[in-house]
Amino acid sequence: MFLKGKTALITGSTSGIGLAYAKALAAEGAAIMINGFGDADAIEAERKALAEASGAQAAYSPADMSRPDEIAAMVRDCEDRLGGPDILISNAGVQHVSPIEDFPPEKWDQIIAINLSAAFHAIRAAVPGMKARKWGRIINTASAHSLTASPFKSAYVAAKHGIAGLTKTVALETATFGITANCISPGYVWTPLVEKQIPDTMKARGMTREQVINDVLLAGQPTKAFVTAEQVAGLALWLCGDAAASVTGANLSMDGGWTA
Ligand code: NAD
Repeated sequence: MFLKGKTALITGSTSGIGLAYAKALAAEGAAIMINGFGDADAIEAERKALAEASGAQAAYSPADMSRPDEIAAMVRDCEDRLGGPDILISNAGVQHVSPIEDFPPEKWDQIIAINLSAAFHAIRAAVPGMKARKWGRIINTASAHSLTASPFKSAYVAAKHGIAGLTKTVALETATFGITANCISPGYVWTPLVEKQIPDTMKARGMTREQVINDVLLAGQPTKAFVTAEQVAGLALWLCGDAAASVTGANLSMDGGWTA
């Protein structure tokens, strides 16, 4: 349990990849603050299970990642209730698929706010404590779309390219403080986020569900298999360890060869 005594704050961790991060870090003893939307009873059950797995505390923040004031308050709340955060994983994300001429401007603003600006606000609030403690791990969930584009995903691709740049800048600014900042760039991982974009992609491209899965989602993924959330969480766990202390400013692909 190499994370005993550490606290991890993970945004967007009521589902998918974020929940897998929470489980992986709790299994190594970290106190966890989860965040995100969903059914209150299901979230409370997850919180309890995380505390049992870690033998440490687990808390939930309902902060909305599109609201800078709520993000700053979430980081303060984590510090007050659990200490830290020593590990900050910005992971909350949403998607919208549409040709650019029909792309609703409010969807653009929402995606940039949740997938990019939220990480800025959370990092900005968490870095002073990490610098004071001379230890920190900042991990951002980027995407293969931080390195390459796909049509009809203008806001998402812009936000993910942006978070890769933000990660590099933070890495340079924190490099002498025992803090690392990296992003993980998965290819397609089978989560609710991917499942939800299938109907819009069917409409945008005039395809069936099977065609979207095989000819769009997995077309560029040479393994022809979805990445698993547990594999992504395994990489985050490694980034938290001493073996990764010199890995900073990196954009780590886990995409079945998509961007090769
Ligand atoms: P998901 O839909 O399963 O989970 C998204 C999480 O974000 C949920 O917990 C949700 O409640 C939370 N969330 C959404 N809006 C929020 C808001 N305003 N405030 C707080 N929380 C909010 O999706 P996922 O696939 O697990 O995605 C997680 C991250 O991984 C995202 O940043 C996504 O872009 C990225 N990613 C996913 C894939 C994939 O194929 N699934 C690939 C590459 C990158």
